[in-house]
Amino acid sequence: MRRRLVAGNWKMYKTAAAGAALAREIAQGLSPDDPEVIVFPPATALHAVAEAVKGTAVKVGGQNMHFAREGAFTGEVSALMLKDAGCTHVLLGHSERRHVFGEDDELIAKKTRAAADAGLIPVVCVGETLPEREGRRTLEVVERQLERALRQMSADEAGRLAVAYEPVWAIGTGQVATPEQAQEVHAFIRKRLAVSHGDPVAGATRILYGGSVKPDNIAGLMALPDVDGVLVGGASLDAAPFLKIVHGRG
Ligand code: PEP
Repeated sequence: MRRRLVAGNWKMYKTAAAGAALAREIAQGLSPDDPEVIVFPPATALHAVAEAVKGTAVKVGGQNMHFAREGAFTGEVSALMLKDAGCTHVLLGHSERRHVFGEDDELIAKKTRAAADAGLIPVVCVGETLPEREGRRTLEVVERQLERALRQMSADEAGRLAVAYEPVWAIGTGQVATPEQAQEVHAFIRKRLAVSHGDPVAGATRILYGGSVKPDNIAGLMALPDVDGVLVGGASLDAAPFLKIVHGRG
């Protein structure tokens, strides 16, 4: 049985104080039978948020990291630093990292490897652009991104991480994937995981959907057999809609 997972990507929003307050409100709204919850605050708020949720069910992750342990990389943050700030997870290969900051599959693979080496759990994002979908290249793109990111991961490591399918055209646009579109890609990802890392890994790995998830579309997404949770951007910035999503209620 895969435990459901709801993750909130706060992107470049929230100061430390605002993030801590939001995280506290989320933690207070959870009950023991809720899905696992991870929030991904910006780097400057990580420590304050981790302190605010200490002893609660809310986990904290970084939105990005460098693959090196330390070094002359101005502006970057390492896996060790994320752990030091209280993170257990890290988001890797988010579409904004790929398409705004030019990260490629090879860089994301190095980061994924480095995260696991440091004991962080990666949430690896994959997803096609609109021209790629319209050109019927969705599965080919997702297969390439997944295969490259996980190539250096053992079966054990692959079974622990989460994959987030986030169609680029659905992120921040209000245009959520249809249940058919989401299920097709999620089932495909699970099939590819079985080929690359074996059936037990494919059965254990959580595959999240991301892209304009809101309280009014969560029920349809969560009903899909291969959707194990969601990665939420805009609707994770306030406790009320985020908690509605966590509780699967519209
Ligand atoms: C995201 O940032 O990963 C995301 C899915 O954003 P939104 O929910 O706002 O589309």
